[in-house]
Amino acid sequence: MRRTGTIFNVQRFCTHDGPGIRTTVFFKGCPLRCKWCSNPESQKMAPQLMVRPSKCTGCGACAAACPEGAVVLLPNRPAQTRWEDCTHCFSCVDACLYGAREAAGREASVDELMEEILADRVFYENSGGGVTLSGGEPLLQPQFAAELLARCKEESLHTALETCGHAPREAAVQLARSLDLVLFDVKQLNPLKHRKYTGMDNNRILRNLEFFSQNTETWLRIPLVAEVNDSEDHMDALANLAIRLGVQKISLLPYHEGGASKADQIGLEYPIPGACKPPDNHIKRLTRIASDLGIEVTVGH
Ligand code: SF4
Ligand code: SF4
Repeated sequence: MRRTGTIFNVQRFCTHDGPGIRTTVFFKGCPLRCKWCSNPESQKMAPQLMVRPSKCTGCGACAAACPEGAVVLLPNRPAQTRWEDCTHCFSCVDACLYGAREAAGREASVDELMEEILADRVFYENSGGGVTLSGGEPLLQPQFAAELLARCKEESLHTALETCGHAPREAAVQLARSLDLVLFDVKQLNPLKHRKYTGMDNNRILRNLEFFSQNTETWLRIPLVAEVNDSEDHMDALANLAIRLGVQKISLLPYHEGGASKADQIGLEYPIPGACKPPDNHIKRLTRIASDLGIEVTVGH
């Protein structure tokens, strides 16, 4: 069977999504709505219009092509999109000759992805790298992800999954068979705060973390947002959880503002405009809390 899925990017030569040089496949669709999301174009499953006003010349071709009248032209300004009228038909993407409009997300088959992945085999072999599935959330497309991972294992490639963990257990079991490494995002241990900042509580996530840590090498990834999840008590609890689960590595990922401009490009209001990265000296203190317990800690992508 020729399996297809929805992705929004394939990035070659990645060095921060697992060991060595890797190809990272970004799946589209995510069950969480983290307020600090750095890839808001990954959240919806369906492909969607993305607009880059800095490339717009105001030529008006998009407005002429739009069947919904969703593009508004104003003198000396980039073309405006009335997002509430946009049906994501992508007629304006084809019409724009300046690359100011694009589709975020596309259907891809396992075969075509394998062709792209295998083109860099020599780099994986020389660096101890491989392939990482990221997103969005790969566990939302379990058959597609499982087939892609199984094909990678047939080619003896190292495989990793970056996950938020919010998925049915069956999906986790299905993927675990073909995984060498899981990079598991833990955003907040308090279930009420987790729901407040991501839209979901964390019960299922923590159960899946337990499952993966028992079955596959697992590292934790913690997006660090000031005042949201950067207290020393929270770090202490995370480090102790890591020790209990046998997790030997934690990556701290301080907040960055990349998500805000992307949200604007897809017509979304960014949910926490005042979000910020914790101060460097505070990040050092958090790092020490975990490293003093014998855990390897890295900071940043
Ligand atoms: S077609 Fe492209 S360059 Fe022309 S107005 Fe539309 S977005 Fe701007
Ligand atoms: S994607 Fe939206 S703005 Fe572009 S042509 Fe279709 S309806 Fe109009």
